Amino acid sequence: MTDRHLSFEFFPPKTPEGRDKLRATHQHLARFQPEFFSVTYGAGGSTRDHTRDIVLEIQQSGSSASPHLSFGGDSKEAVIALLESYRDAGIRRIVALRGDLPSGMGGMAQLVYANQLVGFIREHFGDTFELLVACYPEIHPQAESYDRDIYWLGQKLQAGANRAITQYFYNPDAYFYYVEQCQKAGIDQPIIPGIMPITNFQNLVRFSDSCGADIPRWIRQRLKQFGDDSASIKAFGLEVVTGLCEKLLAGGAPGLHFYTMNQAETCAALCRNLGFVES
Ligand code: FAD
Repeated sequence: MTDRHLSFEFFPPKTPEGRDKLRATHQHLARFQPEFFSVTYGAGGSTRDHTRDIVLEIQQSGSSASPHLSFGGDSKEAVIALLESYRDAGIRRIVALRGDLPSGMGGMAQLVYANQLVGFIREHFGDTFELLVACYPEIHPQAESYDRDIYWLGQKLQAGANRAITQYFYNPDAYFYYVEQCQKAGIDQPIIPGIMPITNFQNLVRFSDSCGADIPRWIRQRLKQFGDDSASIKAFGLEVVTGLCEKLLAGGAPGLHFYTMNQAETCAALCRNLGFVES
């Protein structure tokens, strides 16, 4: 089943222990031969060096690494220099984002919309990089409206992005309806569902509240009932997310992008359940 897209997302750890754990996670998930591993970026440049170091290490290990990138407070020259270092290291794919500014940076930095970043990269680097962008089946929290959010996705793709990866969601109908609306708006590039495994109730609620992802009531209630019983949360999460992925793939999704949170076990279990071949 190698025709289905598979990719994994990491964030840059802050400690040496976190780096060691990420190395082990990468080695574990590399057995599934994903198309790429992407590494997030703190808009405002807060993780610039960490993101670059991890990206280069993954790329040098023989896997394909894809850095996330946003302008934040960086100058054009700094962004160009970073992209040149990626190009020279053989990186051929970037996830281009507007990002969100970390708190405390207001006024010091300016957000650059992702369609502008995509245009900037195409202007300075031509077709050197494949460009992926973010999209939101449940609609970006700051969007003016459902249709306007799809309009801006279209603008990112028209500016030269090749594919989109979605924010996570647990309702497959939200994805299928969104893809249908995108197609009606003339978008025919692949829209890859982003999948967040369920392993910890409190963290999931916190992330979901901040990024506008909906946790259906029945999932919330079930997770709440498990309390501190982490084994039951993981078992239920695995069952629910496997079912979600099965529905997405059966309904025509081009593949899956996993938000790993730098943990291998749950993503590996999901991949096995879904029949991704392990070497
Ligand atoms: P944009 O596409 O620029 O959209 C932002 C908002 O403005 C939307 O509401 C849109 O409707 C509207 N809009 C878009 N373009 C325009 C325009 N030209 N004029 C007016 N309005 C416009 N965050 C990080 O900080 N680091 C990461 O590494 C990271 N990785 C992510 C990976 C994925 C796959 C996803 C789905 C999200 C990721 N995020 C990351 C979160 C993301 O940065 C935030 O959701 C951010 O608020 C929006 O980024 P964007 O690139 O989607 O923005």
